[in-house]
Amino acid sequence: MTPLDRQKLQDTFGARLRFDEPLSRHTSFRIGGPADVWVEVQNPSEIGLVQKIGVAASLPIFVLGGGTNLLVSDRGVRGIVVHLGRPFQQLEWWQNGNGQHVRAGAAVPFKKVVTESIHRELTGLEFAEGIPGSVGGGLLMNAGAFGGEISRVVTSVEGVDACGQQRRLPRSELHFEYRFFDLQAGFVVTHLELLLQPGDHAAIVAKRDDAKRRREKHQPLGYPNAGSVFKNPPGHFAGRLIESAGCKGQRRGGAMVSAQHANFIVNADNAMAADVRGLMDDVVRRVFEIHGVTLEPEIRLVGDWSPT
Ligand SMILES: Cc1cc2nc3c(=O)[nH]c(=O)nc-3n(C[C@H](O)[C@H](O)[C@H](O)COP(=O)(O)OP(=O)(O)OC[C@H]3O[C@@H](n4cnc5c(N)ncnc54)[C@H](O)[C@@H]3O)c2cc1C
Repeated sequence: MTPLDRQKLQDTFGARLRFDEPLSRHTSFRIGGPADVWVEVQNPSEIGLVQKIGVAASLPIFVLGGGTNLLVSDRGVRGIVVHLGRPFQQLEWWQNGNGQHVRAGAAVPFKKVVTESIHRELTGLEFAEGIPGSVGGGLLMNAGAFGGEISRVVTSVEGVDACGQQRRLPRSELHFEYRFFDLQAGFVVTHLELLLQPGDHAAIVAKRDDAKRRREKHQPLGYPNAGSVFKNPPGHFAGRLIESAGCKGQRRGGAMVSAQHANFIVNADNAMAADVRGLMDDVVRRVFEIHGVTLEPEIRLVGDWSPT
């Protein structure tokens, strides 16, 4: 980045821009080296501006939501990390013959939309009780649990494309798979629209409480982590494969395969990203040896992983 680009960014974003920002401050793993540039944007035009500067200076752009599904390299992220600020935390509700719609800013905490929908006696999001992070991140990951997935309630997506243009993608243009949403490179999601249905309040609360109980019972919520590390391979549960391969409690540096839920790796003691990644490789190798199944990561490996 030229000194002129740096100056332009600094003049535009002031205190919302930081150089060499440690990403360990912004990930649920509490792991991650510095971002060359960290910027908090407050409206779609600012996103467009960052896109333009990124293209002109050949700097890649990465959007960081709640940072709850990421393993950021110890060497950090080259380029610009964009974080959506408070103006992207609004919910707008309206009703029509199809049901109850909500337009959510992509930075809205998942918890907020779940809680409000239940308060409004709406069904469709009970499964997401306890999924941390933002709804934008939830969309990108097609977040799901206990048989539910966000893809079932999304009706459209808005954002800014890599050329800085604001766009709205209707449902017919959205393609989801298990823990995957097919979004064109460089697109920053600013809003998504969900369609929920009125339901029986007691049944909705019971479903939500059931999700909460199952999570509290099985997940190691006491240590920093990023949720399930591996996707469930077709016909299997990753956690069961890892447990029966004898990996529970296995360690690398400060990282440990949770003794409570084998598909969680926890930051038990000042783990480095390299510890977590090394432990992931150990687990993949062991599970393949024992079960002949190759595990695929669910968490996203972000940043500079080039060999030293
Ligand atoms: C304790 C715990 C439990 C969890 N349980 C579950 C679970 O039950 N089910 C489940 O599916 N996940 C679970 N997760 C994983 C994680 O919480 C979800 O995937 C969550 O939806 C990610 O949201 P985020 O805002 O943290 O996204 P991030 O981790 O910040 O980002 C995830 C991806 O989305 C992209 N992204 C984020 N926002 C935008 C945007 N506005 N525009 C474009 N791209 C964007 C990022 O670039 C990145 O590629 C869990 C995590 C933890 C720590």
